[in-house]
Amino acid sequence: MLLPAALLPAALLAAAASIAPSPPPALRAPAARCVAALVAKHGDGERARAERGVAQAAAFWRPADGDARAFEAFCAEQFLPRGDALDATFARLEAAFEALDGHGLEIGRELSRWAQLDVGPVRAVDPLLAAYDPTAHVTDDLFAGKIAFVALLNFPLTTLDERLAKGDAWSRREWAEARLAQRFARRVPAEVNQGIATASSAADLYISDYNVFMHHVLSEDGQRLFPKGKRLLSHWNLRDEIKAQYAQEGGLARQRAIAKVMERIVTQTIPAGVVNDPTVDWNPYTNDVRPAPQDTIEAGVPRARADAAREPDTRYARVLASFRAEKAADPYSPSLPTFIARKFELERELPERRVVALLEEVLGAPEIPRIAKAIEARLGRRLEPFDIWYAGFKPRTEHPEAELDRLTKARYPTAEAFAKALPGTLERLGFSPEKARWLAARIDVDPARGSGHALEAARRGDHAHLRTRIGPDGMDYKGFNIAVHELGHNVEQTFSLYGVDHTLLRGVPNTAFTEAIAFVFQARDLEVLGLAPASADAKALLSLNDLWATFEIAGVALVDLGMWHWMYDHPRATPAELREATLHIARDIWNRWYAPILGVRDVPILAIYSHMVSNPLYLADYPIGHLIAAQLEEHLAALPRDRRLGEEVERITIEGAVTPDLWMRNATGEPVSAKPLLRAASRALDRS
Ligand SMILES: [Zn+2]
Repeated sequence: MLLPAALLPAALLAAAASIAPSPPPALRAPAARCVAALVAKHGDGERARAERGVAQAAAFWRPADGDARAFEAFCAEQFLPRGDALDATFARLEAAFEALDGHGLEIGRELSRWAQLDVGPVRAVDPLLAAYDPTAHVTDDLFAGKIAFVALLNFPLTTLDERLAKGDAWSRREWAEARLAQRFARRVPAEVNQGIATASSAADLYISDYNVFMHHVLSEDGQRLFPKGKRLLSHWNLRDEIKAQYAQEGGLARQRAIAKVMERIVTQTIPAGVVNDPTVDWNPYTNDVRPAPQDTIEAGVPRARADAAREPDTRYARVLASFRAEKAADPYSPSLPTFIARKFELERELPERRVVALLEEVLGAPEIPRIAKAIEARLGRRLEPFDIWYAGFKPRTEHPEAELDRLTKARYPTAEAFAKALPGTLERLGFSPEKARWLAARIDVDPARGSGHALEAARRGDHAHLRTRIGPDGMDYKGFNIAVHELGHNVEQTFSLYGVDHTLLRGVPNTAFTEAIAFVFQARDLEVLGLAPASADAKALLSLNDLWATFEIAGVALVDLGMWHWMYDHPRATPAELREATLHIARDIWNRWYAPILGVRDVPILAIYSHMVSNPLYLADYPIGHLIAAQLEEHLAALPRDRRLGEEVERITIEGAVTPDLWMRNATGEPVSAKPLLRAASRALDRS
């Protein structure tokens, strides 16, 4: 069931909406005196604003900012009643933050260009320059310099419930004011932020150096399944190898072995000595470990004996360390008192209950068993648990990749050639000639060292950057396909900066929205090359692929979320207790949604994702991203014939960073919904 916020009882939302942070005890009496003085000066009409503003400022005021007398003096001087002075101050702050953010971003971009761009050899100083962040202490400085308190005293700090309940009726100025204050919803001390960074980099390090040498992973009956030298990073490479094995002779035994490896990792029954070590053979079924024969060893010295001791719950110790570091920040964001609240209400701006309802709508959709049947028919066997990663819905390629490579390399020998072609590229994507030239003049193309990416600008006058990797013989098709994706980001970034009415509303509600627009562009890359677009059959297969991928990752996201709730309920848990709880949660979710489809119960592999360790509560962005992309694609595919795609993309993106549901209603007429993704899959199933 879907629970649109608009349909929730108004009383429930109003109750949640009236949360203004309360002043700390030492400032309660001074705050009351402040309000009385402000009402005496500006009249009773300003009472509600004064009460709210003074309480907001007091909630973040620390002894180092001044004593109670200084607080009272500050409020008396800086509080502004509605009118010209308030309007002018709002405009000043908007311009100031555009300058601060825009130039800060530019400095960072300039300092990292030698590390990121293909502009000659990397010098030892380049990574240091790239790591320097001129904006790292801006929020601290804005509090210390009292600019943050001017914002908190005069503009409302809103909760998500309040934005959802009232945001539809707000003026654009009210939306911009909400964003202005929201910037200061947290004042986290440097040492707490440092603790979060430390826990996060320890988790990253653990995750980024967790490899399994597959030549040494044996089948149930002790056979070698994988070639020498294959080293897979958990979980990404393990999962991708399962996907790749669908097309390989004898792939099933290898897929089963990988699934067993995953199970050993999440249950932490994996012998610690087999991680990153090609000198020992391991049978993941029996958990038997022994020295590998010398001629099988990729690197290192053969061993006399091998240690079978299990990994000591390090995976869960890292998660707990992140939890404790994030929890330490709770007291410093009074309106968002948990990491879960900050993730959903501040970053994602979709309430947790709504995200869960969307994910469960996908998990329980009637299209899922139909897709499972189709997969079973294609595989000619019963499904197994790892088939949640089935990757066989790949359309037959209508243009061989070598032919496409030839085409793009000839057309785009350099980054400059791609830049010069931009106006024409944009016209083929559905922009008018004038709009295409206007956009191209605000997008710079750079040759990247690494993979392609898009970099926004944050002030008018600066340009978005499209970074693309070009080989010595020109841009290959893969690079071109990515460049068209990045161009989608750049177009969104340019409209939502230059076209938005308040720069405080620059951007999109969250990253899923800019990704959705990038995918809309990317899906039209053949048209840019002047080739026929993908056939209806190809599109049908892709929608089955999308729904199955969303089904898989939706459950993974629920495990992540369940784990965080459990930690908040058991803040003193040991790593072993967290392990047991996580396995319990993963198996429950599996039994509820996956066992009926895949036939096997009590499977814990949904807990394998590395994000759960190194990027907590991020995973829900993937399934939500699929929903948003399908919804936008459905809308844009159904445009009337006389409406250019470009005009519609412009209309949609200049809305800026309001809440996801409001943005989506403006774009498509409906709040964020799972229906378009399910409809597309249903149509595809009906075709076959
Ligand atoms: Zn992207």
